Amino acid sequence: MSAFIVDGHEDIAMALLEDRQWDFGSPAGNGHGLSLPDAKRGGVGLILATIFATEGYWEDETVASIAERQVKLYSELLEKHSDDLFRVESRGDLALCQAGGPIGILHLMEGADPIRSPRDMKRWAERGVRIVGLAWNTGNRYCGGWDDTRGVTAAGRNLLAEMRRLKVIPDLSHLKPEAFDDVMSFDDGIVVASHSNAHALRGHRRNLTDEQIRAIADRDGLVGIVLYNAFLGEDPVTLETVLAHIQHMVDLVGTDHVGLGSDFDGGFTTAETPEGIDSVADLRRIGDGLEARGYASADVEKILGGNWMRVIRGALPP
Ligand SMILES: [Zn+2]
Repeated sequence: MSAFIVDGHEDIAMALLEDRQWDFGSPAGNGHGLSLPDAKRGGVGLILATIFATEGYWEDETVASIAERQVKLYSELLEKHSDDLFRVESRGDLALCQAGGPIGILHLMEGADPIRSPRDMKRWAERGVRIVGLAWNTGNRYCGGWDDTRGVTAAGRNLLAEMRRLKVIPDLSHLKPEAFDDVMSFDDGIVVASHSNAHALRGHRRNLTDEQIRAIADRDGLVGIVLYNAFLGEDPVTLETVLAHIQHMVDLVGTDHVGLGSDFDGGFTTAETPEGIDSVADLRRIGDGLEARGYASADVEKILGGNWMRVIRGALPP
């Protein structure tokens, strides 16, 4: 089916930094799942493009400089492909991409390490960052990681308050259970998990328990299904595996709280994505699969993009 697709997690800048031969403007291949031609072909209308500059991941370079390089790479990309891509700044812009305009780009910061202090959040929001995960797997001054005992710190609590003031949405993917609970107790607004699956079907620490999925739905948020086999199931991982994770969440919380967050090019290749899903052009196959399972078109449209649109609309000015 040809629905409007929102991909809630694409590591475009990271792929540009890690593979100098790679060109977002050429069809996907060589292990890359991302590309502009495939996004266009597949009906992807809005992309949450990440800024990933967590401490210790990028050797020999500071968090600040790697984050600035990623911002610059996105600016160059938007300039180079100005007919096909644009930075979404308002609800009006969202309507434009939904009406068949250029593909919209918004940013998601994966790990708040580049944000120097809560007061610095405003500068990042002005650069298009609408979603922030306090920490990646490793901790920082805002939030503990998987290897330490801290949850959300006092600075993290202040950052959450500033994010809420600026309508920047917390991303709970990557947070350990204690930090997840802290965010939920320190803040009472909408939250997302941009790229996580159901722990009940795949017992990986990156996946969400039923209780966590319900908690996100209670805030009118959503969970983006991530297309990395390690988070989906045992081999062979197929489209059916993906559909099972969606079905599990729909059974728990209905069709308003599930979306897509492919995580394509986020440190794994298409050898590690489900069979038959080799690029963003194949995201629409998830919609076909849901229709084949008897989902109503309106529900398929929500899962492929409508739910993300609702969440993001609330984070943007008119
Ligand atoms: Zn991630």
